[in-house]
Amino acid sequence: MKVLVVVAVAASEAEGNTVMAISIKSNKELDLMRASSRLVAETFQHIAPHIKPGVTTKEIDKKVEKYITDRGAYPAFKGLYGFPASACISVNEEVVHGIPSKKRYLEEGDIVSIDIGVLQDGYYGDAAFTFSVGKVAEEKKRLMKVTWDSLHLGIDQARDGNRLQDISAKIQQHAESHGYSVVRILVGHGIGKELHEDPQIPNYGKAGKGPLLRSGFTFAIEPMINMGTKNVHTLQDDWTIVTDDLRPSAHYEHTILIQDGEPEILTKHELSP
Ligand code: MG
Repeated sequence: MKVLVVVAVAASEAEGNTVMAISIKSNKELDLMRASSRLVAETFQHIAPHIKPGVTTKEIDKKVEKYITDRGAYPAFKGLYGFPASACISVNEEVVHGIPSKKRYLEEGDIVSIDIGVLQDGYYGDAAFTFSVGKVAEEKKRLMKVTWDSLHLGIDQARDGNRLQDISAKIQQHAESHGYSVVRILVGHGIGKELHEDPQIPNYGKAGKGPLLRSGFTFAIEPMINMGTKNVHTLQDDWTIVTDDLRPSAHYEHTILIQDGEPEILTKHELSP
């Protein structure tokens, strides 16, 4: 799950060098974050074979919840700000925060973005992945691949000596160079003892701006990339965010750590779009 920002907040950060309290994790805390993040990754691998036509988004949500609770952990989004399920499941033009439903059947050709968080022993892990449902049109596959690549290009900027918006700028540059747009009102975030910690991590920005990065920072980086307009709105359920033009959107997220100056992906799994 991501932080919904007031646009003005993100804009003020774009000025750069805002002083923020970014927590540095101890080695003991990092071990706990590794464990909760590993469980997020394992949950994705567990549900992957079940993402197919005819399955309801509620059935997927139940599998997510059972897998996490069977291991003594808690699905982090359940009840968060009142969210009524364990996973956010968003289909096609739904960007994020889709509510699982027993009436929503996945269909051949859909793309479905699933966002999963775990709270275990006081620390959070958070990741998202957009899956194909059966055979998917080439233009949707391209959107997924570009979004996935933009996530990894962004992660690669998470290094000692770089600045926060080096991550943002790389994501934006890659997505826009393929003719896609970057959602503005939703951003990545610091993560640790809280699901959403400082700093906010926009998926757009200017290289060289923002706080200096250093080892011990833990971030959830999560580009949400649209095929058409960058503009989005919230449905009447007060949760689901969809693109204004109803064209598809993709979302990939990893929880990462900067360790010995370099990025390490804590929610790493074997899936790829
Ligand atoms: Mg998140």
